Amino acid sequence: MSLSLAMVVLPRVATVPTAAKAKQPRQRPNPKTQIGKPNITTSGPTVKKITSGFNSRNKEPTWQCVKNCGACCKLEKGPNFPSPEEIFDDPSDVELFNSLVGSDGWCIHFDKSTRKCSIYADRPYFCRVEPDIFETLYGIEKKKFNKEACSCCIDTIKAVYGSSSKELENFNAAIWSST
Ligand code: SF4
Ligand code: SF4
Repeated sequence: MSLSLAMVVLPRVATVPTAAKAKQPRQRPNPKTQIGKPNITTSGPTVKKITSGFNSRNKEPTWQCVKNCGACCKLEKGPNFPSPEEIFDDPSDVELFNSLVGSDGWCIHFDKSTRKCSIYADRPYFCRVEPDIFETLYGIEKKKFNKEACSCCIDTIKAVYGSSSKELENFNAAIWSST
């Protein structure tokens, strides 16, 4: 499995109610403790539909990041995704996020030729797709992390590469391969 990269940005229609987020204690993860852990990212509409898909198979896929994707490193994904101001409470996080956005909407650290993060080991905490991060930023319970992370990636890949893309096909094949 790869380690391309991702930005933890849930689509607006995803699960996480604003109220739920607001109730979460804001404990910012220590970036040092996150370095080296598997990474990720996110995004797209219809968690509901996706959840139905999961249920229809009577089992859950296992989230994993896949090679040659990087959809989550497109930081400007359009109006279906929340702004950094809506995601972060800490203004310095908003500032850091905005500083990463290139003129084409992709992260300035995303290497398009390899589809990998050029600062992988030192990427910001919010680029890491991990249970603690999802709980801190979106109020998602750790036991729901796997399903939510899968939905986020599916939605993000759809938004960036399209619903009929090879990237989406690859991701779906990967997450269902171990079930
Ligand atoms: S969208 Fe998901 S699979 Fe694609 S690079 Fe980001 S974390 Fe990995
Ligand atoms: S720093 Fe940029 S390229 Fe690296 S994981 Fe985060 S969004 Fe992707």
